Amino acid sequence: MGGPMMGSILPHTRVPVVKGTSGILLLNAGEAAESESEACIRCGRCIKACPMGLLPLEMSARIRNDDMDGASNLGLSDCIACGCCAYVCPSHIPLVQYFYHAKGDLSERQRALLRSEATKKLAQQRQSRLERAARERAEAAALRKAQRAAQQASEAASAANEASDAGKQKEPA
Ligand code: SF4
Ligand code: SF4
Repeated sequence: MGGPMMGSILPHTRVPVVKGTSGILLLNAGEAAESESEACIRCGRCIKACPMGLLPLEMSARIRNDDMDGASNLGLSDCIACGCCAYVCPSHIPLVQYFYHAKGDLSERQRALLRSEATKKLAQQRQSRLERAARERAEAAALRKAQRAAQQASEAASAANEASDAGKQKEPA
């Protein structure tokens, strides 16, 4: 579904045709048979065919070596999955499948990174909340202590004044 170059193989026929369905290609068993892929002979046809000016053979070599960042540095994200490179490849290397796989891997890593950053941010916010609560508790305790000390000082001063007044009254005239 989607045309001969960019279309994808349907797993079964119970797939609806919707507004975005650009085309359906029906192939017989002979036409649909996949050719065995062989080693890259570095003919450069895929480079010439790429409308985006990419290096499909280099990108696929890096993806085969699990070097997704290397493929990304070669412009993997600019690949429009048109399929021209795979179409002209005499070795029948499934280049587009490599690119789909690598893009999926990179976007999964990106999602994992975003999830981890969000978790880190939440943990930092929780830590700040706990620290602020502890600081507020300590400040409230210090205030209560100061108020108690002031109260005790005031009571002691009153008691001393009363004792002094009582002493004056007892002195003979
Ligand atoms: S067209 Fe195929 S065989 Fe030729 S360089 Fe590209 S990947 Fe290799
Ligand atoms: S599928 Fe990607 S790499 Fe291949 S020709 Fe199209 S844009 Fe270029």
